[in-house]
Amino acid sequence: MTVIRQQDFIDSIEDALQYISYYHPLDFIQALEVAYHKEENKAAKDAIAQILINSRMSAEGHRPICQDTGIVTCFVKVGMDVKWDKTDLTVQQMVDEGTRRAYLNPDNPLRASIVSDPAGARKNTKDNTPAVVHIDLVAGDQVEVMIAAKGGGSENKTKMVMLNPSDSIVDWVLETLPKMGAGWCPPGMLGIGIGGTAEKAAVLAKESLMDPVNIQELLERGAETTDEKLRVELYEKVNKLGIGAQGLGGLTTVVDVKINSVPTHAASLPVAMIPNCAATRHVHFHLDGSGPADIKPPKLEDWPQVTWELGSNVRRVNLDTVTPEDVQSWQAGETVLLSGKMLTGRDAAHKRIADRLNKGEGLPEGVDLKNKFIYYVGPVDAVGDEVVGPAGPTTATRMDKFTEMMLSQTGLLGMIGKSERGDATVESIKQHKAVYLMAVGGAAYLVSKAIKKARVVAFEDLGMEAIYEFEVEDMPVTVAVDSQGNNVHKQGPAIWKVKIEDMASAQ
Ligand code: SF4
Repeated sequence: MTVIRQQDFIDSIEDALQYISYYHPLDFIQALEVAYHKEENKAAKDAIAQILINSRMSAEGHRPICQDTGIVTCFVKVGMDVKWDKTDLTVQQMVDEGTRRAYLNPDNPLRASIVSDPAGARKNTKDNTPAVVHIDLVAGDQVEVMIAAKGGGSENKTKMVMLNPSDSIVDWVLETLPKMGAGWCPPGMLGIGIGGTAEKAAVLAKESLMDPVNIQELLERGAETTDEKLRVELYEKVNKLGIGAQGLGGLTTVVDVKINSVPTHAASLPVAMIPNCAATRHVHFHLDGSGPADIKPPKLEDWPQVTWELGSNVRRVNLDTVTPEDVQSWQAGETVLLSGKMLTGRDAAHKRIADRLNKGEGLPEGVDLKNKFIYYVGPVDAVGDEVVGPAGPTTATRMDKFTEMMLSQTGLLGMIGKSERGDATVESIKQHKAVYLMAVGGAAYLVSKAIKKARVVAFEDLGMEAIYEFEVEDMPVTVAVDSQGNNVHKQGPAIWKVKIEDMASAQ
């Protein structure tokens, strides 16, 4: 019988969550480095370069890889021969205590993203609790923990289906994935759970994402089991879709596909697919009663030395003087360096603006969007001499429902976010001769270095969802939808799908 101290468990959870906020798993970084060297689409290669540079900066600076520091998801396997030194807290409560301490750590505060009453008031719990905890009683005398901080953008793209037993899982994945857009910040991984019941398949999919990236090993030794053969087939066919980094089109959409399966009912074939994003963050540890987990930091030399050249024909834009006429000359796919003032706003701020405009109250005091750009972001709080914490883009697609209102009623000139816009929104952008720019999702710490000043101008009570004014210098973005409605997220993957087919037939 092993005695596990409650304090050791809580300390280990806290340490693990701080660790994964700034250290990518090395196997993921190594897979991204391979993808970087292989990539032939310049836009996608640039995006992977930014993700790798951001990763190294986060590891060096001990600041979050992404502004979305995730929902804590924890698998705890408790040995049947384990005894706890105290029993006043449940395993859920111990994980929550570790989460609270990690997210409120003054040296590296992490963004609190969890809201209670999700179907109603959606009030931020302020400490990122409760965590999602899966507990198993297993054989043995240790406690095993696999813990992740799962980004909302990738979690939102989860798909689940009850297939007929004779249906093809590969067909379903290949049909479903292109419809998921780029809000899951590829390149990443796919976790697929097969069998059991509906809820079991979803948990299997999530747990599969805790495994290391090792598809190259599997390709070298050859697939033997059904699941291994399916992994290889999906890995190859998904990458042939040409979705690419950030949905810009390219050779690598996934660096691995993981599969967990269990027996199921003869009438059923439950399948769940959960993507993991560029901010793949998880760590494993065991407690054997000898103290808290000793999670060894990686060596910085293990990060690739990637440089990112902007090229000579980059367009520099002064946001304080830019006009509607200027914007109309920008081309989809072009890299733009933004300097000057922009406003921020995401889901809650847009909802409040919509409510005010519907009631005829106009924009809140201090907010003038005429000929301005709005950046969809919810930054991490600043520490030390930082102007703002990591501040990467959030998924723009969620703001689609507000875009016509914003463009027609506020004089807004453009928006900055990540991932694709819907067809109606692209049409609206075209009608208003506006523009949509994308920054790289998962490069939040790097982006924050371009922000030189930040102040809250409205809706302060919304915390990270308040409207800020940012003053930026040379913030790199790509024109994702230009004023003629050309859309890189449609064109890029379509072009690269054909190129990949051509490359395969030329071999
Ligand atoms: S990389 Fe993208 S999906 Fe992942 S946490 Fe960051 S913003 Fe969300």
